[in-house]
Amino acid sequence: MIDLLYRIADQGRVVYAVRRGADLFEIEGDVFDAYHVGAPIPGGLDAVRVLAPVLPSKIVAVGLNYKDHAAEQGKPLPAEPLIFLKPSTSVIGPGEAIRLPPGAGRVDHEAEAGIVIGRRAYRVPASRAHEYVLGVTCVNDVTARDLQRRENQYTRPKGFDTFAPLGPAIAVGLDTADLEVQGLVNGSVRQHSSTRQLIFPVADLVAFISGVMTLLPGDIISTGTPAGIGPLAEGDVVTVRVSGVGDLVNPVVQG
Ligand code: ZN
Repeated sequence: MIDLLYRIADQGRVVYAVRRGADLFEIEGDVFDAYHVGAPIPGGLDAVRVLAPVLPSKIVAVGLNYKDHAAEQGKPLPAEPLIFLKPSTSVIGPGEAIRLPPGAGRVDHEAEAGIVIGRRAYRVPASRAHEYVLGVTCVNDVTARDLQRRENQYTRPKGFDTFAPLGPAIAVGLDTADLEVQGLVNGSVRQHSSTRQLIFPVADLVAFISGVMTLLPGDIISTGTPAGIGPLAEGDVVTVRVSGVGDLVNPVVQG
């Protein structure tokens, strides 16, 4: 069974909840450890505010992990995963605005499937990677493309506040080998692919990254974006859709 876990603000409290059909139930216990399903939340999702599903210590993102995106960037396929960090302060939740920084030039959407780490992971072999994954969420790896082209590293172009929308839920129990990933701007599909097209699949990413740094519960591995990236403008509404997870929708504002 696929569980959809939401982190919500409900009457001044922040809790996790699980969706079962149209109903929402409060989680009792720790989503990263043992939990069980508690009392129903009156009004369901419509009655609460959905927050970013985790507050990660770090987002480890993967560059050029789809062959079609590497081609559109005019770059050769990497021999090893190309990883970079997005700061925890770039995270926003569903419905919150992506802010286009003054003078940054072109800012792009990047629709990605995000892996939510469930257990402290260090030097985990690929064969055991699944034991360290809690579930899947949607990530928009928002990128200031002009700055990225000007600089040799990714911290500034991908690190602005609001440049890491996450959500709306953590889907527990999905097969990460075949997830449909879409990016939409104002309702029209700009990116459409599947994690079947990943150069480095999820188990290899967990092994590679945990060989470098300890991954903590709630950390995110953003698995890379397919072809079709494009610029965002003030007034746009951008959606990242990962099959089985739902739609992560964010408006775009100047400033
Ligand atoms: Zn990306």
